[in-house]
Amino acid sequence: MSLEVPLSQQGRCAVHPDLPAGGTCFRCGSFICADCTTSVPGLGVRLYCQACAARPDVNYLEALRQRYQGKRDGWAWVVAGVTLLLCVATAAALSQWGLRATKEALFTLVLLIPVPVGVAFFLGRRWARHALVATPLVMAVVADALAPSGRFLFFLCAMPGLITAARIHRDVRNQLFFRLPVPPAMLKVLWNERFNNPMARQASRFGFSALFMPMLAPVAVICGVVALKRVDPKATPPIGRRDQALMGLVLGLVSPLLWGAVLLLWLSDRIHF
Ligand SMILES: [Zn+2]
Ligand SMILES: [Zn+2]
Repeated sequence: MSLEVPLSQQGRCAVHPDLPAGGTCFRCGSFICADCTTSVPGLGVRLYCQACAARPDVNYLEALRQRYQGKRDGWAWVVAGVTLLLCVATAAALSQWGLRATKEALFTLVLLIPVPVGVAFFLGRRWARHALVATPLVMAVVADALAPSGRFLFFLCAMPGLITAARIHRDVRNQLFFRLPVPPAMLKVLWNERFNNPMARQASRFGFSALFMPMLAPVAVICGVVALKRVDPKATPPIGRRDQALMGLVLGLVSPLLWGAVLLLWLSDRIHF
């Protein structure tokens, strides 16, 4: 809409007075020329002047990136915790059995394989991201070399580690900790998960739970109402999840009716006999 200004009324760019304005900034309304016109990832067709596009409340995906870039996420602390546990377990095993040149004593040392990877991961070294995925397999291969009879068990034990490590490898928030270039589309997914009306998701969760536990129905209704009020597709950034908010509200209202009907049927059965 803002681009369709009739030629006769066309203004001049606020920054470049010698250039005709092609439109107005969505936020501040000042005239912008073609050079100044900036689109912001995640905000669809809206166009901004360069000053407004740089604001953290407008360029919310960039603000999100700066907020989390280089900051340790939950996974970094989980990896650090597991690393510490492995060190303690190895120390306990060694103090119990001592370090002898037997295969059993060497077996204990398999637990130490992930320690350098875990430390590097916590410190934000990028190679450790990939090494973390390989570590469970390396441990299984080494354990297998020491005791071939347990091959199936070792690889079975490695599977949960492998799956978790692959999940961490794909995690956008964790990639921000490692300062990897994350495209706006993936930042949008992260923003959607954490900041796009989380109350609506709670409402739908409580709504479904209320079908089985009717005492949760009021919580679902309250969350649903609050979440519905927060929905604002015109805001910057746009707040959505109207469907989930409505779902929570409706389920919260339906659940007591269902349970009431069941109770009435049961009571009427009792009274007749
Ligand atoms: Zn502006
Ligand atoms: Zn301009």
